[in-house]
Amino acid sequence: MAVNKNHKIAIIGGGPGGLMLGLLLQNAGYQFTIFEKGEPTINSERGGSLDIHEESGQVALKEAGILEEFKKLARYDGEDTKIVGKDGTVYYEETAEGEGGRPEIDRGELCDLIRTHIDSSHIQYGYKFKSLEQFKNGQVEITFNENEKQIFDFVMGVDGAFSKVRPYLTSTDIEYTGISMIEINIDDVKNKYPDLAAYNKNGKMMALDQNQALLAQLNGDGRIKVYASYRMDYDKLDDYKKLSPSELKQQLLRDFHDWDASLLQYIESMNDDILFRRIYKLPISLTWESNGSISLMGDAAHVMSPFAGEGVNAALYDAYLFVEALKQKDTLYPAIQYYEQEMYKHSRESAQGSQDNLERMFSQNAAEKLVELFK
Ligand SMILES: Cc1cc2nc3c(=O)[nH]c(=O)nc-3n(C[C@H](O)[C@H](O)[C@H](O)COP(=O)(O)OP(=O)(O)OC[C@H]3O[C@@H](n4cnc5c(N)ncnc54)[C@H](O)[C@@H]3O)c2cc1C
Repeated sequence: MAVNKNHKIAIIGGGPGGLMLGLLLQNAGYQFTIFEKGEPTINSERGGSLDIHEESGQVALKEAGILEEFKKLARYDGEDTKIVGKDGTVYYEETAEGEGGRPEIDRGELCDLIRTHIDSSHIQYGYKFKSLEQFKNGQVEITFNENEKQIFDFVMGVDGAFSKVRPYLTSTDIEYTGISMIEINIDDVKNKYPDLAAYNKNGKMMALDQNQALLAQLNGDGRIKVYASYRMDYDKLDDYKKLSPSELKQQLLRDFHDWDASLLQYIESMNDDILFRRIYKLPISLTWESNGSISLMGDAAHVMSPFAGEGVNAALYDAYLFVEALKQKDTLYPAIQYYEQEMYKHSRESAQGSQDNLERMFSQNAAEKLVELFK
């Protein structure tokens, strides 16, 4: 027995988690609509390279029937890894060989891969979730945009860290981790900056000091994205936001002035494409009282810092867990409860790993400590 397939399911958010949930529901024959506030191209330009783990993200891709297609797009050489101290000492260097368990893909490419397998009638773009009202019979009326109302049997909030669905289940809000990042980009590195390309290789370079880091990653489009990262008071990032690109570059060069020249190349080569990110998290063991008609997955349920590369994997895996729960249980409420218990168990480990890595990467002798983990 499986949960009745006639339930009307609303998925709020068309990021990787919402799209994966849609595809798995479609494959299992459920009725669903994904509501995404952005336009269809919303994901193409957004986000860096993500490593998709064999034991979680890839499990969902396999279940969805798109693992082989993913493998054709994935960059296995993106697993090249280098860990460096601020004086330029290379503490660890690994060149990826063959098919590793954590290949890279750009976030936009991943979203497009999943989306193209979903019948377009199931995705509504330009639909911003505003609020919901739950009726006594369990049904939920959602208000989108100015005042458009639609009724569903079940709502899954996959609307990211700043979820507007979450407050209907818990009053717990996201917390600032104390880490802020300035995301800078270097275009067409192989042609324009061959020395930097050779230094960085095809994957990630992590240069660490106690309170600062330069985290670089080659993306599929030939760019290197660098996250200049700081332990920083919440408001301080606003000072950086006020600077022009050239002022910002000078500021970064000042902030990292005593770092090795091999590392300063990243800042010297930056273009004007800059993003400012505060890193947030939810409490690691966040749970809520199960509601028969509303639940959460992905960053909405358990946003964590990106330092273990677990966020997107947990989002994809949640979608897998939810659809498995629908297949295993007879009715919706026990399926939701079962899903939530499994999701808490899995995401707790990912969130703890992410927090442990944050503490490790922003501590004394950070590079040496991170190397221990890789060994
Ligand atoms: C722009 C962006 C870039 C990222 N880049 C990286 C990265 O480089 N490396 C890394 O490790 N992690 C990155 N992350 C985090 C990582 O991608 C997340 O852990 C993962 O995407 C979680 O997936 P999700 O589907 O739960 O949420 P998200 O990816 O956050 O997707 C949520 C979706 O919901 C939509 N939405 C939000 N509010 C509403 C609303 N009210 N109504 C309707 N739709 C709504 C958003 O537009 C978005 O498409 C990024 C996240 C974002 C949003």
